[in-house]
Amino acid sequence: AYNGPSADEVFEKRKKYLGPSLFHYYQKPLNIVEGKMQYLFDENGKRYLDAFAGIVTVSCGHCHPEILSAIEAQNKLLQHATTIYLHHAIADFAEGLAAKMPGNLKVVYFVNSGTEANELAMLMARLYSGNLGMVALRNAYHGGSAATIGLTALNTWKYPIPQGEIHHVVNPNPYRGVFGSDASLYAQDVQDHIDHGTSGQVAGFISETIQGVGGAVELAPGYLKLVYEMIRKAGGVCIADEVQTGFGRTGSHYWGFQTQDVIPDIVTMAKGIGNGLPLGAVVTTPEIAQVMAQKIQFNTFGGNPVCSAGGLAVLKVLDKENRQQHCADVGSHLIGRLRNLQQKFDIIGDVRGRGLMVGIELVTDRKEKTPAKAETAVLFENLRVLGVLVGKGGLHGNVFRIKPPMCFNKDDADFLVDALDYSMSKL
Ligand code: PMP
Repeated sequence: AYNGPSADEVFEKRKKYLGPSLFHYYQKPLNIVEGKMQYLFDENGKRYLDAFAGIVTVSCGHCHPEILSAIEAQNKLLQHATTIYLHHAIADFAEGLAAKMPGNLKVVYFVNSGTEANELAMLMARLYSGNLGMVALRNAYHGGSAATIGLTALNTWKYPIPQGEIHHVVNPNPYRGVFGSDASLYAQDVQDHIDHGTSGQVAGFISETIQGVGGAVELAPGYLKLVYEMIRKAGGVCIADEVQTGFGRTGSHYWGFQTQDVIPDIVTMAKGIGNGLPLGAVVTTPEIAQVMAQKIQFNTFGGNPVCSAGGLAVLKVLDKENRQQHCADVGSHLIGRLRNLQQKFDIIGDVRGRGLMVGIELVTDRKEKTPAKAETAVLFENLRVLGVLVGKGGLHGNVFRIKPPMCFNKDDADFLVDALDYSMSKL
């Protein structure tokens, strides 16, 4: 049993010694002390079904035994030496990752986070194209560093500093977007930005394939195909941010961009790639990677042996446990049950997503789509009491984000929906 400090003690210490910009979920913050696969435990031993996976990060499951043993074995042998020496783990992991990529996406750079991956991708796009301007979607999250904060288009994260030359185009959101599901009208906005807001040339375009922080928003079907063509015509490269959507989570495909039938020039990854290890990657073509050779691109921990051994184990476990298919099966069961619940409760405005990347948008009026912000907050607290942890997001904080570890099963899905049903009936 746990005998460390209480939630109150930890919270006090955190307030004293950690920055005031930290935020926490729940009126009384949770003190999580242990995790096993899709379950988390607080200091009193209360079990929670984890439907948020540390923000879509724990892909295989908390403390997955095979990943733990790969990490432990490498830890005992060598923890760190940097890429100035050879190490087989980094090369093996890069090979394993490249094997998962379509087309000519074969060159890997390892970094430590999604923010770093997007920074590097943007640098490559600018060097390769010789242009500066980036096109990104409104409602996107791509990081919080000085450069990626410009790509991010959610007010919560936008500190007032220079943001670089970024063109934020209309978000192709089928539920709330002004053009519904009409990809060509949204794409026209990209062309308008290129024609009127730039010299006619851009460095690149970046987007998630299902917006994560923005509230599990799937892009209008066919959008990326149209936009990738426009961007390439304007001299830019196309970047897919797979930080949340990658590794089979969408069920139908291993990579989110495949749901839109495109092949990007650069793909960025983090979170699920390491099942909790600090790890990110940028994968691109040999031609684009070549622009980095004019200088040295160095990252002390990028591809560190322990992270590489863990990352390779993640790839193997996902294949061995057939997680992509599992996400498809459990995801369609979950989405089906949520759609039934939508028949019962008017507050559910939209149920969307793919596989185990699901969003539930709550509204007080289905026609006006008025965000049910206060109700979402109440339900969120009640779910926690019932032992279910979900994510919250979207422009108005009225979207539940269901993105559990991929070992989440149909019984878990039923428990989650039953808890939601009960909470909604008590509203
Ligand atoms: N891209 C996406 C789509 C993300 O969701 C996030 C994190 N929420 C990032 C990039 C940044 O990743 P990190 O926090 O690891 O820097």
